[in-house]
Order: sequence, then C-alpha cells, then structure tokens
Amino acid sequence: MSRWVCPDCGYVYDEEKGHPREGFPPGTAWEAVPDSWACPDCGVRDKVDFEPDD
Ligand SMILES: [Zn+2]
Repeated sequence: MSRWVCPDCGYVYDEEKGHPREGFPPGTAWEAVPDSWACPDCGVRDKVDFEPDD
C-alpha cells in the first residue's frame, strides 16, 4: 500500500484508507483512481500532480 500527497495542500491519498466519500473504498489502488480525479481538499490539483509520499 502506498500514499500519494497533493503538492499544494498536503492532502494525502492513502491506498489503505481509500476515500469512501469520493467513491473509493479502503484498499483502492492509486492506479484505479481516474486521472481526471481532483484533490478533494483544494480542488486545484489533479491526480497526475500528486507525488509519492515516502
Ligand atoms: Zn490539494
């Protein structure tokens, strides 16, 4: 399981937790999130802008 962080607001998408409010249940892989998905916190950044959180 990996985590991806929004470079603008710091929101973290955690594959382990998913984002149920957006329709991604816990365990949803990052690859399964559509490229058109925008950051749920700032709405500015899209999926492609997210960076891996090491
Ligand atoms: Zn954001």
